[in-house]
Amino acid sequence: MENNASNFIKTIIKDDLETGKHDHIITRFPPEPNGYLHIGHAKSIILNFGVADDFNGKTNLRFDDTNPLKEDIEYVNSIKEDVKWLGYDWDNLFFASDYFDEMFKRAVLLINKGLAYVDDLNAEQIREYRGTLTEPGKDSPYRNRTVEENLDLFDRMRNGEFENGTKVLRAKIDMSSPNINLRDPVIYRISHTEHHNTGNKWCIYPMYAFAHPIEDAIEGVTHSICTLEFEDQRPLYDWIVENCEMDSKPQQYEFGRLNLTNTVMSKRKLKQLVDEGFVDGWDDPRMPTISGLRRRGYTPEAIRAFCQEIGVAKTSGVVDSQMLDHFVREDLKLKAPRTMAVLNPLKVVITNYPEGEVEWLDAEVNPEVPEMGMRKIPFSREIYIEQDDFMENPPKKYFRLFPGNEVRLKHAYFIKCEEVIKDDNGNVIELRCTYDIETKSGSGFTGRKVKGTLHWVEASQAISAEFRNYQPLILDTAAEDEEEKTFLERVNPESIEVLQGFVEPNMKDVQPQDKFQFFRHGYYNVDSKLTKSDHLVFNQIVGLKSSFKM
Ligand code: ATP
Ligand code: MG
Ligand code: MG
Repeated sequence: MENNASNFIKTIIKDDLETGKHDHIITRFPPEPNGYLHIGHAKSIILNFGVADDFNGKTNLRFDDTNPLKEDIEYVNSIKEDVKWLGYDWDNLFFASDYFDEMFKRAVLLINKGLAYVDDLNAEQIREYRGTLTEPGKDSPYRNRTVEENLDLFDRMRNGEFENGTKVLRAKIDMSSPNINLRDPVIYRISHTEHHNTGNKWCIYPMYAFAHPIEDAIEGVTHSICTLEFEDQRPLYDWIVENCEMDSKPQQYEFGRLNLTNTVMSKRKLKQLVDEGFVDGWDDPRMPTISGLRRRGYTPEAIRAFCQEIGVAKTSGVVDSQMLDHFVREDLKLKAPRTMAVLNPLKVVITNYPEGEVEWLDAEVNPEVPEMGMRKIPFSREIYIEQDDFMENPPKKYFRLFPGNEVRLKHAYFIKCEEVIKDDNGNVIELRCTYDIETKSGSGFTGRKVKGTLHWVEASQAISAEFRNYQPLILDTAAEDEEEKTFLERVNPESIEVLQGFVEPNMKDVQPQDKFQFFRHGYYNVDSKLTKSDHLVFNQIVGLKSSFKM
């Protein structure tokens, strides 16, 4: 797969191969199945699979399922689907929970070596004893239990003799280390919870910091790539690989996580939006999840190009979400057929056009790609135009339709507004226009010029459709504000607009996920969830233009 950009991780790998430190490369993508993947995960997927591809290596998809409380098989399935959709295929599929026996053995090994102990302090006491950045921690009164006592207690923890939270196993490292992660981190806790994979076999579960290096080592992962928050955990990662006597010695490397404007990027927060009904599920087209982006109409090609462009650095930044939009426009420009859709219809009767007659006009499917061919569109006495394309009392420089003005109908004729029909409340409900047969599109007419070109749909054969236009789901506020406002308070109350309008009759066979460029409106995708055989729903992917500059 296309992956030309260099980055510091590739440089490290290249070096490791050249110096003979490794003769092959194994990476992994290790999601916790506690939610759906988001665009931030895409960056990690593209990085892990991408670097392995570049060096003929392998990549495992590993579910980091060591916390039974939050994990679910629904998430496992969605993650597999999303990785595949992005264009990647794992060499092996693993579950961290399959290693629970091995992890238990390694914990016993640490106890035997005097490097782990069972602690009876509760969570709050452990936090207190841990100290702070400026204050060293102090030893737990249980720190000096004998190996025999620890082995016995750990075994009884495993056998379910103790309640949740009454005991933990801790690594015995250094309570005065300047790195707080090394102040005797908890490595096992009691949780009487059924696990989606191991059922009720276990009532103790390993902590992430202990489990992760063991998982990597078991799989022979060479380069364990994670986000920057884990930088301070690297000494602990190395300590565990070393002291658990793992044969393989994986190494952790950190890169900056992706943050985007106008959204939140954390499964926990996204789950809150779903659970509290702010959106219609994880795949709501406003969500930054892979499934939401897919349903909205973003393409894997656009997401991959975007991730290549933002690159991989040792710092985290916030990327303008308009940059992602730029890449989807670039991708669809030559792929999407162009067509006309009226989102907010206003009826126009062309009074000098023969009643009952329909003619078929020719139009390019995509003028930038002649191979895409031509389509036929009907024209008759009654058409729809966009409500916004008419003003009774226009300002200066308004070149669309107004009483007495003439405009061009794309692919058809010039029409001139002769009369405005209103309802009892004074709302404009219909326009009466005349057309000029001489001005037919493609006829080479040069007699006079008009400044406005409008899109339209012939009324008798138009297919009704629903259009969903989107604004950002989360509103960014000034930095000061942001600390006081939770993300739920920043949810945009106007993030969706639903309109009922019309598309051309040649759209009758469109399929879910088909993408189009609607003339003057932008790119739209056929919604895969709401579209029924008699009800066509389009999601706006992006508008046509933006102020964003690469
Ligand atoms: P979240 O907080 O959204 O749940 P996470 O980091 O806890 O994210 P995991 O399922 O543990 O999610 O992540 C799997 C991999 O994806 C990890 O290696 C993680 O570093 C990476 N990842 C997660 N979020 C981002 C992001 N915003 N940018 C880049 N990589 C990310
Ligand atoms: Mg997580
Ligand atoms: Mg997280």
